[in-house]
Formats: sequence, structure tokens, C-alpha cells
Amino acid sequence: MKILVQKFGGTSLSTAEARANVIEHIQDALNQEYKLVVVVSAMGRKGEPYATDTLLDLISKNGDCLPAREKDLLLCCGEFISAATLCSLLHANGIPAVALTGAQAGIQTNDDYGNAQIVSIVPNRILDLLEQGNVVIVAGFQGQTSGGDLTTLGRGGSDTSATALGAALKAEIVDIFTDVSGILTADPRIVEDAKPLDVVSYTEICNMAHLGAKVIHPRAVEMAMQAGIPVRVRSTFNKHPGTLVTHPEAMKQSGTLHDRFVTGIAHVPGISQIRVAAQEGAFDLQLRVFKAMARERISVDFINVNPSGVVYTVFDQETDRALKALAELGLTPLITSHCAKVSIVGGGMNGVPGIMATIVEALTDQDIQILQSADSNTTIWVLVQGEDMARAVRALHRKFNLHK
Ligand code: ASP
Ligand code: MG
Repeated sequence: MKILVQKFGGTSLSTAEARANVIEHIQDALNQEYKLVVVVSAMGRKGEPYATDTLLDLISKNGDCLPAREKDLLLCCGEFISAATLCSLLHANGIPAVALTGAQAGIQTNDDYGNAQIVSIVPNRILDLLEQGNVVIVAGFQGQTSGGDLTTLGRGGSDTSATALGAALKAEIVDIFTDVSGILTADPRIVEDAKPLDVVSYTEICNMAHLGAKVIHPRAVEMAMQAGIPVRVRSTFNKHPGTLVTHPEAMKQSGTLHDRFVTGIAHVPGISQIRVAAQEGAFDLQLRVFKAMARERISVDFINVNPSGVVYTVFDQETDRALKALAELGLTPLITSHCAKVSIVGGGMNGVPGIMATIVEALTDQDIQILQSADSNTTIWVLVQGEDMARAVRALHRKFNLHK
């Protein structure tokens, strides 16, 4: 069976006009003889009647007292409504379709309510329905425990439903439809001449996604990568082919491998740098600091340990808690709040000399100070003052010729 999974996000389903576009994409896939599984998110965004945030607002007034299990019961409803609504539209257009909840689609998860992990998918029912000529609509973002309780997969989880189903069904491709025409070289709100990318590797997009380019959930990419299934990020509102996310080997084979060192520039604001100096002879400093952060469940990043001390970052909103924990250890760190992490992402930079020199040159030309840096073989990160963030992203975008 030649199977395609299409996933439509909240904005793709929020208005009648948007839903008409969805029907067109479904029709296109059927015309190409695909057996089609359509994964849907809840319709609309915060403030709109059936959006996930709107459902959360229903109970927020009652304090934070609804148990996680029951909260998932509520949250699943957004995707139920969406699946049934799309099903009615397909029927109205003469397209045979069946809507399934995540549980009915065979998605089993653990019982970590609100952030459940998929443990297995038994896709027999979907396969039977496809065989019988149906479009199968699956409510995204959800599954059920072995005991039959409904769970949700964490915010943005319907991307994960889509790629997990793609993997279980050995789909040819998973299309993630959203409101942008693919992945851009930078955030267009900062870089006016940011360009859509036609192809990126799984690792590159994971780095871009984690770092602020919020087009697809990194967990979803990870699943597609493990199964080796290509993903396309495309717009619901046009026929642009979007960005293909795949393995570098597949890019090579299809002749789409780009001879580029840097693929895109991502950014995350709202970061605090914490510097703790080591007293002479205090060899256990790092152990005490990081154990304290772990106890407080504060996630740390940009970690640098050296004989003169420990430097790391936390999100601004965690700073007070981090400081309190350090004070309890008798430590008085130096804090620089409101910083930003700027990431230069590119699978092609591995082993290429001169990339760091180019980054430093681009930022020095703009009088931007680098507070810290780190690197992996596909990404270089620099920490800058928040007020320098936009200028840094623009300067790097230009320096690496990403506008061309
Ligand atoms: N509706 C869920 C959310 O808003 C899942 C998703 O959209 O992917 O997080
Ligand atoms: Mg999403």
C-alpha cells in the first residue's frame, strides 16, 4: 500500500476557508493514488472556541485542582471535535472517511498524563479501513494507557502522532501542514529576506526546532528520523512543495544535497547566564551546583566547567529559584539576565575551518559581545545580550549569504 500521512494544525482547520484548502490537499493526495491517513490538531488558536487553550481556560478558574488524568480527558476533546468536523466535510464532498480517536487508532502510551510517551502502535484497524477505501482521520495529540485511560502527548503533540503513525504504517511520506510554506533560514519577523529551505536534514531541523523555529515538534522529527521516513513541512494555504526533511544520504541520492556550510540561524531569548566562581581548593563545586539544580528540576544549558568556576544558563523565569538554591549552598553567583541564545545551524560545517572566525567577525563588526559559546558538529551557539539578538541574527544571516 502506498500510504501518505497528512497532519493539519490548528490554524489549518480554524475557518471554513482554511478547511476548504484542507479538502483540496486531501483530494490531491487521493488523485495521486495514495491511501490517506489524516491527523488533526484541535481547531484554532487560543481564544477560538475549540482550541486546546480554550479548553484549558474552562478549568483554570477552578484553581489547579483537576487531576492530570481528568485534564487529559478534557484536552482530548479538542481533537475529537476536529476529527469529526473534518469527517463531516469529507462526507459532504463525497469522500468516504472514518474518524478515529488516538485510542481507536491503536496508539498506546504510558500513563504519564499530559506528557505521555507512545509505547506502541497497533495499526490494524487503520490498515483495514484504508484497504476498504476510506480516508482515515485520526485525532492527534493522544493515545490510551494499557488500562484504557486517555492520555495526551504534551503540547504540540499531534506532530508526534503523525510521524509515529507514519512509522507504524511505513508511510512513504509524512506531510506536516501548517501556516508557513516550510522552514525558513531565520525567523522572518527578524530577518526580512529569510528564505524557505527546500531540503534540510533531520538533525538540522531538530536544532532549528529546539532553538525557536517552531514549525515542527522535535520529538516528531526524532521519530521520523528513527524510522527513516521523510517529512515535508508545507503550507495549507498554497501548493508550494515546502521543505523536505530527510537523511543526508537521501539528500545526496536525490541530488538535493546543498553545498552549504550554514543552513539557518535560530534564536531563543529570555535566558540568564549564571557564573559561580570556585574558591581555592573547592573541587566539589560543580557537583554541588548541578545537584542543586537537578533537585530543583531546573534545566541547565550552555554548561562550562573549568578550574576557576562554573558557568551555565537557565531560562529567565527560573533565575530566582536557581539563585535561592545557590544561596542555600552559600554561593553568590554573578547573573546576566535577558540574554539570547543565537544558533548557527548547518550539517555542512563539520570539519570546515573558519566558521567560528566568520561568526566572530560578523558580530564584532556590529559591536556585539559574545558572552559564551558552544558547539557540536552541526551547530555553533553564541550567547549575546538580549538587546543584541535581532542584530546578531541579521548579521549572521547576511554574513553566511543565506539571503541569496
Ligand atoms: N492541540 C494540541 C496543542 O495545542 C496539540 C497540537 O496542536 O499539536 O498543543
Ligand atoms: Mg503544532
